Amino acid sequence: MAKVTILGAGITGMAIASQLPKNYDVTIVARNIPGDPESTEWASPWAGAVFMGMDNSNEREQKMQLDAFWVWWKLALSHPESSVRQVEMQDLIDSSNLEKVWYRNKLPDFRVMSKDELPADASFGMSYKSIILIPPVFLCWLKNRLEASGVKFQRRTVNSLAELQGMGHDILINATGIGPRYLTDVVDDKVQEVRGQTVLVKSKFNKIWIRRGKDYTYALGRPDGTTILGGIKQFGSTVTNVDDELRSDVSTSPSVMGAITRLMLIEI
Ligand SMILES: Cc1cc2nc3c(=O)[nH]c(=O)nc-3n(C[C@H](O)[C@H](O)[C@H](O)COP(=O)(O)OP(=O)(O)OC[C@H]3O[C@@H](n4cnc5c(N)ncnc54)[C@H](O)[C@@H]3O)c2cc1C
Repeated sequence: MAKVTILGAGITGMAIASQLPKNYDVTIVARNIPGDPESTEWASPWAGAVFMGMDNSNEREQKMQLDAFWVWWKLALSHPESSVRQVEMQDLIDSSNLEKVWYRNKLPDFRVMSKDELPADASFGMSYKSIILIPPVFLCWLKNRLEASGVKFQRRTVNSLAELQGMGHDILINATGIGPRYLTDVVDDKVQEVRGQTVLVKSKFNKIWIRRGKDYTYALGRPDGTTILGGIKQFGSTVTNVDDELRSDVSTSPSVMGAITRLMLIEI
């Protein structure tokens, strides 16, 4: 029986643990663990979180994304208590067309949106079914499932992978998010932080609406009567406090407001 240590209890570390053979002896070691109070030290609790095909994916990456999509799709049906739901998605990409979209016709109910469904300044959009989940709920659900199947969690902060040698594992998996940049025996400078800032509002909006182009904006209607508005992407930024100017930009963005028009929003 292989003994495995996974460093990191975010979605990456826990998803890996969930896919390992059931007879493996798995321990997840992490500084931040699902259920902890809010912290910007890790990314997973802050995600939207939805499935969206990534631009510029090669064939292998496309297959990985579609394989993952169908796992989420089935989870929405088999385990709704995990917070995963199937949802209608409107995916607008400026200066694009159907031929450039690798996931065209590969997702449920895929169709090109008509001109009158799009904002006046948009030229191309697609509608299909995607999935959405509420990360704080999903991460705790997955942690409980893993513990029930024998996976152990251990809280610990390390400065290097070498510090874990005493765990006696056959396999060590590094799933530390941006950690590889800072672990002293990895120091991978290809790993880069991307700062996000979102606004959570109460709303009956029940779709996903994303527009990619000159700006990147989204409204993600969650199954608990809230909507996440975004999306700020600041490459290389490690600032953790809220930028009030950005918050106001996100909450009043004309394209986001156009998408969820006439709905009462109460910032929470
Ligand atoms: C606003 C926002 C919206 C997003 N929306 C989406 C979305 O809709 N869909 C999507 O797919 N993605 C989305 N993302 C991206 C997604 O959140 C991240 O890609 C994902 O959460 C990364 O998960 P991870 O497990 O790799 O890292 P993390 O969640 O950062 O977890 C890292 C783990 O490693 C541990 N760790 C790190 N260093 C150490 C150390 N030295 N010692 C011990 N433990 C350590 C941490 O404590 C933690 O447990 C979004 C991100 C943001 C910020």
